[in-house]
Amino acid sequence: MATIDVLFHGFPGKASNTFLGWSTIALLKTEKRLCLVDTGGHGARLWLLEALKARGLGCGDVDSVFLTHLHFDHIANASLFPGAMFYIGRNEWEYANTADDPVVQEGVLPLLRSFRRTLLEKDGEEIMPGVSFLQTPGHTPGSATLLVDCPEGRTAISGDAIKNRVELSTGNVGMTQAAEVSLKSIEKVKAVANRVLPGHDCALRLEGGQVLPEGDNVVAITFPEGISIGGQSVIKLRIDR
Ligand SMILES: [Zn+2]
Repeated sequence: MATIDVLFHGFPGKASNTFLGWSTIALLKTEKRLCLVDTGGHGARLWLLEALKARGLGCGDVDSVFLTHLHFDHIANASLFPGAMFYIGRNEWEYANTADDPVVQEGVLPLLRSFRRTLLEKDGEEIMPGVSFLQTPGHTPGSATLLVDCPEGRTAISGDAIKNRVELSTGNVGMTQAAEVSLKSIEKVKAVANRVLPGHDCALRLEGGQVLPEGDNVVAITFPEGISIGGQSVIKLRIDR
């Protein structure tokens, strides 16, 4: 059975001048395998290296990387794992290589073309024991989810097919290319998983039709010394339950 080690919980939102792009990065472990799910945005690079180091790992220990979709805030650090096998949905790969989507990180695509790649097509295809592929389009035409049988139950690592707790509980999805398709993908996930790790929120448990966050989702923003924002140099953002 695989275990999921969440290196970073994503956090929702955008600023007046940028996407926050704070996305979830998870590490799947089995006895023999280490698979990273998404690689975060470029701003997460040093933090990702630190998180691996804190676990006694280097980038070379990660044998595979699954990319939920090819937006910049999920793939920017793919370059750290040149030796890994990259798992990507075929539909997403074809979309990113042909569509004019400014959120796809164009500069990373040539790199991914040079890496070892497995393109996934069918629901249920396993990338390691107990870890399978599920197509969940809407956010992008090829957005995909990984279903992981782990000690906490069947967990869907959904990328931006389900970005946060509100999308999971209401089915109303922001930033989607097709709202109806997104809604169907959410229903598809709910039918097979009892827990969701979204692209921009902490782990969420599905219980009796309710969406229950597993703990707080907090981000602390630190400002340079001498800078004060509302009298504080550190501001904590916490999602209300
Ligand atoms: Zn996205």
